Amino acid sequence: RPQIFALGNSRFSTSPEPSSKPNPPRVPNLIGGNFVDSRSSAFIDVINPATQEVVSQVPLTTNEEFKAAVSAAKQAFPAWRNTPVTTRQRVMLKLQELIRRDIDKLALNITTEQGKTLKDAHGDVFRGLEVVEHACGMASLQMGEYVSNVSHGIDTYSIREPLGVCAGICPFNFPAMIPLWMFPIAVTCGNTFVLKPSEKDPGASIILAELAMEAGLPNGVLNVVHGTNDVVNAICDDEDIKAISFVGSNIAGMHIFSRGSAKGKRVQSNMGAKNHAIVLPDANIDTTLNALVAAGFGAAGQRCMALSTVVFVGDSKLWEDKLVECANALKVSSGTEPDADLGPVISKQAKERIHRLVQSGIDSGARLLLDGRDIVVPGYEHGNFIGPTILTDVTPDMECYKEEIFGPVLLCMQAESFEEAISIVNRNRYGNGASIFTESGIAARKFQTEIEAGQVGINVPIPVPLPFFSFTGSKASFAGDLNFYGKAGVNFFTQIKTVTQQWKESGGGSAVNLAMPIS
Ligand code: NAD
Repeated sequence: RPQIFALGNSRFSTSPEPSSKPNPPRVPNLIGGNFVDSRSSAFIDVINPATQEVVSQVPLTTNEEFKAAVSAAKQAFPAWRNTPVTTRQRVMLKLQELIRRDIDKLALNITTEQGKTLKDAHGDVFRGLEVVEHACGMASLQMGEYVSNVSHGIDTYSIREPLGVCAGICPFNFPAMIPLWMFPIAVTCGNTFVLKPSEKDPGASIILAELAMEAGLPNGVLNVVHGTNDVVNAICDDEDIKAISFVGSNIAGMHIFSRGSAKGKRVQSNMGAKNHAIVLPDANIDTTLNALVAAGFGAAGQRCMALSTVVFVGDSKLWEDKLVECANALKVSSGTEPDADLGPVISKQAKERIHRLVQSGIDSGARLLLDGRDIVVPGYEHGNFIGPTILTDVTPDMECYKEEIFGPVLLCMQAESFEEAISIVNRNRYGNGASIFTESGIAARKFQTEIEAGQVGINVPIPVPLPFFSFTGSKASFAGDLNFYGKAGVNFFTQIKTVTQQWKESGGGSAVNLAMPIS
């Protein structure tokens, strides 16, 4: 049995003696079924963004430790791929039960390390849990195809086989959901896995790894290594790793896509976004404004599907005042405060970057309708807080529009016509999501057809598909050709083998024939 650690409020220990616990605690790697302290001399502080308290320290895993993790995954693969799919599914059935049992602990860890509100942290876990539930039906999802009698006495069938060792590289903004987009699908297909959590909030990955071990995942099937660029590059280069799932920024994502692909790996890379909402004047004003505020400022705007830009068409621009009123009513505080609507952004550097982008918008002619930059939250004066911020008269040439801001900042643009609004959205380089708010089915249908975004919402602000569909970002928001989860996710983690078999009564026709068969 693996050693299980009590992670209570994100407190890790790899030592049996309480007196010898390092303080702050060190986040262990998981290698071959053992949660082990890294021998590295380099660690990064994991910081609570609401208080600046050092929660734990995450190691820059050494190359030897990384190799040991890959080797454990490689050794575990033959037995795991031959384990009946029903048994693999049962591990997921148990895992979903254990995640439900420990959802409060996971959520508290997420709020402590990432900053989002406790309620939102529960959502982070829950949306990942749904992927685990989906993986419980892997036998049907992984089913192949069969055509009998393709020729006399000959049948052809295809089977989807696991790839071998796969790896996942995660961003900071969904510490539970994104690891759960990756390893449950991969391992239930019969692969083994090396997970690299975000160095900013690795705690949830470790709790999930503990639960996966408790659920009965054999040693070596799931491994966790921490670090930054070096371990990521090692993943890209390692000959034994067959596929990489990446979620994060475009700079890292395109680097990993190129480097991993050049080594012959499959890579799926979900990257940055600039999600637009088009508001038509016939939309329901209250539901639309509530949706814009929730999707623009929820999780302090640090969701890849956050609505960061609104294009008001015609007279709907008159709604801006009411939008400001709604946004101004939001409560900014530590995510642990029960009445908080939004918490801090992840780091001081992120806060400075967001301030700079807002200022660049003002300097290039945008009007500041709501300024959250100077907010001070009583009791959390050192937190990385930014209050809801709204800029209007934004134009496509502005840096604040071209860059993903990834903070609680909503940009407003105006268009004279619906066609002009669609053209603004389509000219943006990103294509993660786009939504329309309207009462017109004809407009909605035109939007669905003409909009160049992978995930389309019609009166739905954040159209993230549940796991029986796939997460389908496009344009600069995605690189690769098999998306996360859903059918595409299963296809990503499996390769097709096509078998043609002949069983016919012997006798007659044994002459050599060099021509291609035609019947
Ligand atoms: P990030 O790219 O900084 O980090 C993601 C991962 O890549 C981390 O594990 C990090 O250690 C690693 N990394 C970072 N820079 C690297 C480099 N130069 N070389 C090698 N590895 C590197 O992203 P983040 O700030 O953690 O996350 C926010 C970004 O993720 C946003 O752009 C957001 O839109 C995006 N995101 C996208 C989706 C999606 O599904 N499209 C979902 C969530 C987040």
